[in-house]
Amino acid sequence: MIAKTTKIHDTKNLVGALPSVKFLNAKYLYIATANARCPKADVFIKEGDHVDTFQVIGMRHGPFFEQPIHATCSGTFVGYEKHYHRNGKLTDFIKIENDFKDTFDKSIILRTPEEIAKLTKEEMTEIIKDCANVGLGGSSFPTYIKFQTDKPIDTVLINGIECEPYITADHRLMLEYPYRIMDGIKYVMQAFNAKRALICIKSKYKDIKAVYTQVLKEYPNSGIELCCVGNYYPQGWEVEMIKKATGIQLNPGELPSNRGIINFNVSTIVGIYKAIKYNMPVIKRMITITGDGINYPKNFRVRVGTPIKDLIPLCGGYKNPDKEKVFILGGPMMGASVPSDDCIITKTVTSIIVFDKVNEPEQPCVRCGSCVMSCPVHLEPVQIMNAVKCADKERIKKLNPLRCIECGLCSYSCTSKIPVTDYVRKAKVFAKL
Ligand code: SF4
Ligand code: SF4
Repeated sequence: MIAKTTKIHDTKNLVGALPSVKFLNAKYLYIATANARCPKADVFIKEGDHVDTFQVIGMRHGPFFEQPIHATCSGTFVGYEKHYHRNGKLTDFIKIENDFKDTFDKSIILRTPEEIAKLTKEEMTEIIKDCANVGLGGSSFPTYIKFQTDKPIDTVLINGIECEPYITADHRLMLEYPYRIMDGIKYVMQAFNAKRALICIKSKYKDIKAVYTQVLKEYPNSGIELCCVGNYYPQGWEVEMIKKATGIQLNPGELPSNRGIINFNVSTIVGIYKAIKYNMPVIKRMITITGDGINYPKNFRVRVGTPIKDLIPLCGGYKNPDKEKVFILGGPMMGASVPSDDCIITKTVTSIIVFDKVNEPEQPCVRCGSCVMSCPVHLEPVQIMNAVKCADKERIKKLNPLRCIECGLCSYSCTSKIPVTDYVRKAKVFAKL
């Protein structure tokens, strides 16, 4: 009997249980000029210029917003190089030779608790905009735009669910920096005058539960609570998280703010904390390097702009180095494949997963319906795939592929090893034409 797929092979435990390794001194840091949301950029520095850590060195331009580009170390701008970006494309990166002095830009300050207490939502929004904060769980959506909602917000949800298999970067962040997370939550609650905040984690994360049960005792009457949700995939999808944590079922396409809810990933909350407290943009992040193709999987605290290649030797190199590898930036369900390890850690890279390449030839569709049963937004992936194969645009539009959240479950559950999600992604492009 075909059943709905929600349980996926999960190998988080060992890596998530080990402390992260700090690697903050790459010789060269690489900062992307453009990204998927901002395809154009102006760079304000020229080769040979000295830069300070946190300095604005350019501006990215997208159709709806602009985004300052910040240096993530101090040193010298030595030119441009092409490397793979998180979106899987070769991209121009600004190359900075680290002088290891970490001299800070003059914009960095320390706000006192009294100064922070006086900040309005509008002032916080401007700070977060200048710091170029985005959704660090992978969405890369500008945080200041979320802050601009004029809907009354009652509840802040913090997403610490990290429901993709293999990744434990947020897990370690939660264990190692609980006070940054707590203060970041307080700042968001202040901005929206929200009465409560729920820190959502999977109920199986006993270590996180133990830490936050203790830390929350230091924040009495704050309205902040721990909320243990389900252990299934995709529990981290905001619609599922909101339903489980609050009992509210969003309508298709409805924004959480419509129901008085705003939600942020835990890494994003730490970014907000740094912005409000110090005016600091995100220049460091937690990242997981893991997969069956790596000798010693680890979590690292690194500067944004660190080449993945610098970290591989610190993981004991590749297992079976003579075997061809598959590299995925992000989780195995929703991440993007890149052709090599010549990629750079940008703000929204949560992980790199390395597998030995296994040739599993695609078989014909047997119409088992597994993909349909597993789709959390109730699409018919097999029908969408067939419509894409025939380039039938009218049929594609009727099948509503734009509702797809790219969770990857249709490919994962496919008995014939068909990359069904790739067809649905193509259908989304067709549907927009
Ligand atoms: S990737 Fe899209 S179509 Fe496939 S199961 Fe997930 S939501 Fe449904
Ligand atoms: S695409 Fe795969 S999962 Fe979907 S019906 Fe065909 S064989 Fe089954």
